[in-house]
Amino acid sequence: MGVLWLDEVDKDDIPIVGGKAANLGELIRVGIPVPEGFVVDGKTFMDFLENSGLKEKIIEVLRDINIEDTKQLEGASRKIREMIESTPMPKEVEEEIKQAYRKLCEESGEEVFVAVRSSATAEDLPGASFAGQQETYLNVKGEDEVVEKVKKCWSSLYTPRAIYYRVQKGFRHEDVSIAVVVQKMVNSEKSGVMFTSHPVTGDKIAIIEAVWGLGEAIVSGMVTPDHYEYDRVQRTIKVVKIAEKKIMLTRGEDGKTVKVELDEEKSKARVLSDKEIEDLVNLGEIIEDHYGTPQDVEWAIEKGKIYILQSRPITTIREEKKEEEEVELEEGKILLKGLGASPGIGIGKVKIVLSPDEISKVEEGDVLVTTMTTPDMVPAMRKASAIVTDEGGLTCHAAIVSRELGVPAVVGTEKATKVLKDGMVVTVDGDKGIVYAGAIKEKKKEEKPAVVAQAPIITATEVKVNISIPDAAERAVATGADGVGLFRIEHMVLGLKKHPMKYIKDGEIEKYINELYKGMKKVVKAFYPKPVWIRTLDAPTDEFRAMEGGEDEPIEANPMLGFRGIRRDLKEEEHFRAEIRAIKKLVEEGYTNIGIMLPLVTSPEEVRRAKQIIMEEGLPLDKIEFGIMVETPAAALIIEDIIKEGIDFISLGTNDLTQYTLAVDRNNENVAYLYNETHPAVMKLIERTIKVCKKYGVKTSICGQAGSYPHVVEKLVKMGIDSVSANPDAVQRIREVVARVEKKIMLDKLREKELENIPE
Ligand code: PEP
Ligand code: MG
Repeated sequence: MGVLWLDEVDKDDIPIVGGKAANLGELIRVGIPVPEGFVVDGKTFMDFLENSGLKEKIIEVLRDINIEDTKQLEGASRKIREMIESTPMPKEVEEEIKQAYRKLCEESGEEVFVAVRSSATAEDLPGASFAGQQETYLNVKGEDEVVEKVKKCWSSLYTPRAIYYRVQKGFRHEDVSIAVVVQKMVNSEKSGVMFTSHPVTGDKIAIIEAVWGLGEAIVSGMVTPDHYEYDRVQRTIKVVKIAEKKIMLTRGEDGKTVKVELDEEKSKARVLSDKEIEDLVNLGEIIEDHYGTPQDVEWAIEKGKIYILQSRPITTIREEKKEEEEVELEEGKILLKGLGASPGIGIGKVKIVLSPDEISKVEEGDVLVTTMTTPDMVPAMRKASAIVTDEGGLTCHAAIVSRELGVPAVVGTEKATKVLKDGMVVTVDGDKGIVYAGAIKEKKKEEKPAVVAQAPIITATEVKVNISIPDAAERAVATGADGVGLFRIEHMVLGLKKHPMKYIKDGEIEKYINELYKGMKKVVKAFYPKPVWIRTLDAPTDEFRAMEGGEDEPIEANPMLGFRGIRRDLKEEEHFRAEIRAIKKLVEEGYTNIGIMLPLVTSPEEVRRAKQIIMEEGLPLDKIEFGIMVETPAAALIIEDIIKEGIDFISLGTNDLTQYTLAVDRNNENVAYLYNETHPAVMKLIERTIKVCKKYGVKTSICGQAGSYPHVVEKLVKMGIDSVSANPDAVQRIREVVARVEKKIMLDKLREKELENIPE
């Protein structure tokens, strides 16, 4: 592995090349014009971290930090980025990148400018829509420069923003890697972004924002763009708002991005012609059709030709207008008007933040006022009751992030930082784009004619969520998931001050049990009465070693095949008993919405022994559920024998099942190209497991990464799986996929019957 050309990758490669690169490959496949390029895969970075010893050092730096403390977060980020940037890249990787770059230059016979973009493997998962989290370098030229920028993209996996995002979303830092896309630069005369459907209501209205020169000016909020709206049903342009675009970004002679002041005429000129808008919308519709969901597209025009630079799903479309969102405000003095970028009403004290150093000023409930937000401001944005900016359009950083955080926002007011003063109380209406003086009361709405509301999607197959960080439980609940299909407790344990066995050795088992109890309670309480399947500890030795007291961890040649999962807990029985005691405490408090799930089972004896210990601890298994992960071919092939030991459910751990079936170490980049969760052998094991479980009345589920992939879920629903557990970001999308497949199954059955009734 290492370098792959964009036309060689597709959506199945997300785990290796990240969403950004995989999407570009997909676009090429449906005939969308995409600039030529290649991608340095994520395994290359993982390998670099592992072989240089940086991985452990990074875990160490991040262990005890409080992400809400901006100073601590920034300090940790700085330290990690310096470590990565000062460690040399392996020679063979460097040479492979240089060779690929030379190939990009072949056609023109001279060194070309390229964009070097980060493609984090978690950043663009279906459902996640944060912009600007990792870095992008434009106008890079020359092979040494390309190599240097690839390294900088790598280190940008640890910006404060990115660290914060992962913790909040429940991703483990070490599970997220970064691939880097190197793509020929389009020297654009015009560029911008397009939402193929309305980003808040989901209506079939394409929204395009456009500026002169490079599109970076929009995302960074430096320029307020032209705004166009195209009605895709009536096929007409509905809105043309020409903004005053005082500057543009362009490529200077030395290749650097430069800011060019525009003269009055150009700055007030309309950027896109009617024809260009129509052409863009047509391309947008091809992309939306291909993915089956509205898209957020970056585009550029060079010498009259449109290029699509990037596309990702819009995740901010409002499902259903909630009652409280429909309030209207009493009349009040209007201080400012801008664009309503994130719906809702926020009231609070103004805090003007002119640079990221000042974000510690912002306290819970304040109204954050700034020229334009930057990724470093996200911790403060999260605390704010509303956000107001001088600059930006509907797709600027402030708009995108505040929509995802659910914080009302008004952008592009031009003068918020001048008109508003620190300490003033204001009311921000994120629907209408207005900022009022004082705290304005909400007015009861008059009865409105009935509108057809979208009913929440009910599926027969339950859609659950995976969780690793107890603090992320509330957000996970907000996905509407039907419970937790996998609560990985490793993250919580690895985050403790010392190794679990050290607690035990130090005679502090009660302390350890209490830590487990506290973390588990956050999750079972947040989801009560929906079920939470708690998985007993499954951390490989290499991850444990970095903890205090972890020095005794055995050094294993292949930790994936080593001392982990239930086999370990049965050897270190005191540890297993500690977990059971923590769960027992919860059950005694009435939290019976719990399932215990054993990881990495390979034999009936393991299940028998584990059950015996649970009984010895006096935990009543008739009050809660008990099940196993099916993540070894052994478990799948002798599932009948395991069922006979008495289990309520199984959950397919496709991450491990795939690696053990295909003899592909999931952490080894040399064989990553062979890692395929839909390999016929893996699918056969899955199908067999579901069939046998159905026969015996044992519930089936999936909690491996494949449970967040629509194409896999489609197959599993057809096989009759009882529930699917996805990552928080994917829950909504997976629910839609499940609903569609279930409807299709019913429809097919109906049609079959009708056909039978037609006389020959
Ligand atoms: C799996 O193996 O699919 C799984 C969900 O467990 P983990 O990824 O934690 O090994
Ligand atoms: Mg596993």
